[in-house]
Amino acid sequence: MNQSVRAQFDVLKELVVVDEEIRKLDADLVKEREALEGTKQELERVREQIEVERHRYDDIEADRGARMQEARVLNSQLERSRDKLNRARNEKELQAVQRELEETRKLLRDVEDAVGKRALELEELKKSIIDHEEQEATMVARIGETEGAVSARLSEIQGLRDERAGVRAGIAKKLPTTTLRKYDQIRTRRNPAAAPLVLEGGRCKSCNMAIPPQMAQRIARIDVLEQCPSCNRFLFVDGPGSSPPASPSAPPNSPGAS
Ligand SMILES: [Zn+2]
Repeated sequence: MNQSVRAQFDVLKELVVVDEEIRKLDADLVKEREALEGTKQELERVREQIEVERHRYDDIEADRGARMQEARVLNSQLERSRDKLNRARNEKELQAVQRELEETRKLLRDVEDAVGKRALELEELKKSIIDHEEQEATMVARIGETEGAVSARLSEIQGLRDERAGVRAGIAKKLPTTTLRKYDQIRTRRNPAAAPLVLEGGRCKSCNMAIPPQMAQRIARIDVLEQCPSCNRFLFVDGPGSSPPASPSAPPNSPGAS
């Protein structure tokens, strides 16, 4: 057994644990932020909808006003035509005025229909706006209630994460710089970045691939730090390793071991 390799194995084992803790805390931070963000975005959408509906309401109301004005004009036109009807001097004039009356009435009916339709549209829109305003109020209340709790949770998680990061730094500095650099590089793609060697069968515990027997034996004897040829993770031996049982030496931690 190589003592420096033994030490690196132990450090890697600790690093894997603390890195997993940090990864979970980071995921929690993201989740907490996203939950609040989601409600805020939903609120933004509802507010935009209300804005659009209010504009539409104003447009329709203006159009209804214009149509009502049109109806007033047509009504006074009718009035005038009726007067003319009374003053018609012959059949020809009478027929002409009657045609005029007919046409004006038809126009008036169309305009009044349009005014009625606009009134219905306004009613529908008003209901929709009220619905959306209620949704808005509910969301504002929900955000108000959760924002305090969420930011408290965020700073709690952040505190835990900072504490773990400190612990991690302490562990990481025990690794040779090149090993740590490589470990961090692996960690950008694989989690965890190191895996125990499964002594029975000589497999990588993370990717489950068989390690070439000679390499596996050297790792098992804690002679060398190697990466899994399949997933690139550092392989460590969790525990005393499989040094040949013939070795008469005492366990490394017992007093008296040199
Ligand atoms: Zn592997």
